[in-house]
Amino acid sequence: MLRRGGDSVAAVEAAVRVLEDNELFNAGKGAVFTADAGHELDASIMRGSDQAAGAVAGVRSVRNPISAARLVMDRTRHVLLAGDGADDFAARSGLPTVTQDYYWTQRRWDQLMEANAEERDGRAGRGGTTGAGAKGADSTKGTVGAVALDDRRHLAAATSTGGMTNKTPGRVGDSPLIGAGTYAKDGTVAASATGHGDVFIRGAATATIAHLMEYGRLGVAQAAHQVLIKQLPQLRGDGGVIALDAKRTFDAPHSSPGMLYGYLTRDGRIITKIFPSESPANE
Ligand code: ASP
Repeated sequence: MLRRGGDSVAAVEAAVRVLEDNELFNAGKGAVFTADAGHELDASIMRGSDQAAGAVAGVRSVRNPISAARLVMDRTRHVLLAGDGADDFAARSGLPTVTQDYYWTQRRWDQLMEANAEERDGRAGRGGTTGAGAKGADSTKGTVGAVALDDRRHLAAATSTGGMTNKTPGRVGDSPLIGAGTYAKDGTVAASATGHGDVFIRGAATATIAHLMEYGRLGVAQAAHQVLIKQLPQLRGDGGVIALDAKRTFDAPHSSPGMLYGYLTRDGRIITKIFPSESPANE
């Protein structure tokens, strides 16, 4: 899309839609279960050129929550719509709707059963377990996000998630909150986060990265490292972020053991990684 001259907002929406439609990820199809065995999805998108943003929280029948977030940005005077109002808005806007069973996957069901068993045995941590990854190991995150810079040097960021396994119905995480899970401002950074959302909200994670760059004059890697590796672990939250600056510098620091991410190099190669020390065959 970017090679064809498309803009960064369209690119991040398109990238996130692909991931939402893939049941491997905790977003759209494949979203995790709430404590009452339902699905409530959160998503947001932000345009760096004018800091316009749109988000939906707790939607239950939108196939692609990121597109609903985009429409909130483009067609309403609001930033965030939640619950039934957000579902109704998406349906009225012509987006494909689904019933809750669309999101169902065996893997996520097993994770809910495991979380229930942990709770019964008193092994559960605060606020449930994070959304994805190898069974029993919180080594990868399933929330999806995308960041992009287009030919006109406009940045954009998007994030979409099912939230955390076994979350209390009605709980909203960082992903639909601008400045927590998603942020984009031209000349500074586009960032999208995954991890313990409640902590990312308290730490204003992605906005802090942007402010460290804008006011603290840190580079993107330093700023992201400061927030992800230094600050959020002090609040007992782990996770990761994908961050891209206006000069095409990309970084993806994470305090979780692993994080799946990929990026397109200037010469058109696609690099994918899970663990920082890894040197994949495609690099
Ligand atoms: N940040 C997401 C949330 O708290 C979960 C995740 O990224 O794994 O809703």
